[in-house]
Amino acid sequence: AAVIDINDLTKTYDMGQTKVHALRGIDLQIQTNEYVALMGPSGSGKSTLMNLLGCLDTPTSGRYLLDGKDVSMMDDTELANIRNEKIGFVFQTFNLLPRQTTLENVALPLVYAGLAKRERQQRAAEVLDSVGLGDRLDHRPNELSGGQRQRVAIARALVNRPAIILADEPTGNLDTKTSIEIMEIFEDIQRRGNTVILVTHEPDIAEHAHRIVRLRDGETESDEPNEHIIRAS
Ligand code: ADP
Ligand code: ADP
Repeated sequence: AAVIDINDLTKTYDMGQTKVHALRGIDLQIQTNEYVALMGPSGSGKSTLMNLLGCLDTPTSGRYLLDGKDVSMMDDTELANIRNEKIGFVFQTFNLLPRQTTLENVALPLVYAGLAKRERQQRAAEVLDSVGLGDRLDHRPNELSGGQRQRVAIARALVNRPAIILADEPTGNLDTKTSIEIMEIFEDIQRRGNTVILVTHEPDIAEHAHRIVRLRDGETESDEPNEHIIRAS
């Protein structure tokens, strides 16, 4: 079954006099372990869709089944619970806590999960090792390169073992070489069984995904397998 099953989803922002129809009826099914790039011009609804997919917001109408559970009608507490259980977020700006070490940044989500300190640190160290930062546990963000900071953020997204990783322009602040390294990590994550969905403006970055969904004016303009990847494999 699809891990994400969206039917006729709409989102309208009510701005007093005017209404902004950010999403106008999106249908989207994503299977477990898919690797999807979400593209489209500025204002096409990408962030709105990512916020709905990530259970940060609820739709105006339509249905969203996440792992078979209807999240379209959930209240804030239920949304927070399912978000913590199922979703890991990666952002363009890393969003790390500057005074905390690498290990502390990554262990933090496990505090909310109720794990003991020793287990939190062990799990955080393991996942940091898996993204190549096993020797940077005591560094603070300003002692790391941009690519290293994003790897810390990726480790933090993974530490709760979520089914789905949502990444919003994850390479937007990185140079080309570092971007490629980060994309290799996402490929690795997908190979290990996660579903990966990333927003990007850059065709070179979208080329890493197996499927490319394009939005325009709040509608799906196209939804196609990445022929380039399919042919190469
Ligand atoms: P994208 O991420 O593709 O740039 P967005 O989802 O951010 O697109 O925006 C889609 C439309 O919804 C735009 O017209 C934008 O101005 C509007 N919009 C987005 N967020 C809000 C909000 N919180 N309140 C009002 N309008 C919004
Ligand atoms: P890159 O060339 O990959 O962007 P940098 O040249 O920024 O990396 O950093 C090289 C190494 O030095 C990195 O492994 C990083 O951990 C370390 N480093 C960078 N800045 C600092 C700092 N201010 N304090 C301590 N270590 C740092």
